Amino acid sequence: MKIAVIGAGMAGVAAAQALASDGHDVTVIERRSSVAEETSFAPAGIAAAGLAAPWLPAPGRLKVVAGNADEEARLRGTGAAFATPGLFGKGDAPEAARRAEHAAALHRLLALGIERIDFLAHGLGLDFERGDGLLLTLADAATAAQAEAAVAWLQQLGDTAEWADAARQRQIEPGRAVADDAPRAVWLPNARVGNTREWTQLLRAHAQHLGVRFLFQHSVAQVSAGPRPTLSFAAANEASRAESFDAVVVCAALESSRLLAPLGVKLPWKPIRGYSVTVAQHVREAAPDAGPRAALLDVRSGISISRLGARVRVAGGHESVAATAAPPDASVPPAKKAVQPLYDAVDTAFPGAVNWQQAQVWQATRAALADALPAVGASGVPGVWLNVGHAHHGWALSQAAAVLLCTMMAGGAQPAEAGVLSPQRLR
Ligand SMILES: Cc1cc2nc3c(=O)[nH]c(=O)nc-3n(C[C@H](O)[C@H](O)[C@H](O)COP(=O)(O)OP(=O)(O)OC[C@H]3O[C@@H](n4cnc5c(N)ncnc54)[C@H](O)[C@@H]3O)c2cc1C
Repeated sequence: MKIAVIGAGMAGVAAAQALASDGHDVTVIERRSSVAEETSFAPAGIAAAGLAAPWLPAPGRLKVVAGNADEEARLRGTGAAFATPGLFGKGDAPEAARRAEHAAALHRLLALGIERIDFLAHGLGLDFERGDGLLLTLADAATAAQAEAAVAWLQQLGDTAEWADAARQRQIEPGRAVADDAPRAVWLPNARVGNTREWTQLLRAHAQHLGVRFLFQHSVAQVSAGPRPTLSFAAANEASRAESFDAVVVCAALESSRLLAPLGVKLPWKPIRGYSVTVAQHVREAAPDAGPRAALLDVRSGISISRLGARVRVAGGHESVAATAAPPDASVPPAKKAVQPLYDAVDTAFPGAVNWQQAQVWQATRAALADALPAVGASGVPGVWLNVGHAHHGWALSQAAAVLLCTMMAGGAQPAEAGVLSPQRLR
């Protein structure tokens, strides 16, 4: 089939690479000058099936330590960046059953995505900054009590989640300051951490090798329905041109709605703004392990710290924004109060480990759908497919989505997850 992919973030590049591997003739149209220039630019880079578990009490029931104004401000500023409000919470029995089914589906999809990340990394020899394992830190007794339920949930699904006392935590992350009486943490050895921009660039190179055509600095203005969908797109200062395809896969994150609305496809977004700061780690012969080895995530604040080669990335932020809000202006630095908790988190966990002078601060809006699952599959308009809404888990989910899209587009037996991810569920 002749297939167009709109958008070259993690999702678009993963889909293009997988579809080209299946023998399709693929063109990727991207308005930026390269891949991974928007939401896929500087995320924490964590892929962990274990994050589908109920680590936090249902959103809205998160209690702030009474009278601790400092803690309150931090919680408001960051929140749990990975929490999926659509998956847990109040509701009657059928609603609880639906949510439980979605959480289990998210777990399976994340595990499938990680399997494919490993398969591609080893099979194609993709050499990118990466590490293994995620240490979930639990700041207080309420979070630790909730973690019991989450660990049990994961063990029921056959996933590995280990409790880690202070000694084990020091063994996993020797550079982290851990008191002897520190609360227990949870170690997820099957998680991955990586530089996802570098990953996407390597995958793009492989896709090109398979014959994928990338049109950068080309913006799609319209998708027209018909026996074969037609795209109108143009480079800056050039006349618009139209091209028809057998199929179009829309991977344009929040922007997808502008293209899909005229076709009658509406998506219920719940976008979430977040931040990251990337900084060089000091290299000292006397203390080679001063920074993190892999990744850590504080469950309560949602702040993660990841090791990316010679750098450390700290990420967090859970601010609800309107779906129609303009993307953050990259030239305007985020408010100090939004990023200060990120600096503090690194200084507390790894004192003196990084050089803050050349910090790269970044902000972006996660395209999350109301029920916290992505929309992957046929849009209802002939030939138009969706691959959007990867929210907090774009690295693993974009790989899982690529596999599922290939199966769905080939026709025949539908994958088990097709119903859960179907865009039709959102109508
Ligand atoms: C602070 C933060 C931390 C995060 N941490 C993690 C993490 O640890 N692990 C994880 O897996 N995920 C994480 N994420 C989420 C992850 O970044 C996203 O899920 C992922 O980047 C989404 O990829 P995407 O391809 O769907 O979207 P994008 O990367 O935004 O790609 C969409 C592309 O479409 C293009 N486009 C849009 N409209 C058009 C048009 N009309 N014509 C042509 N091109 C168009 C855009 O230019 C863009 O390149 C984090 C996000 C944030 C903000």
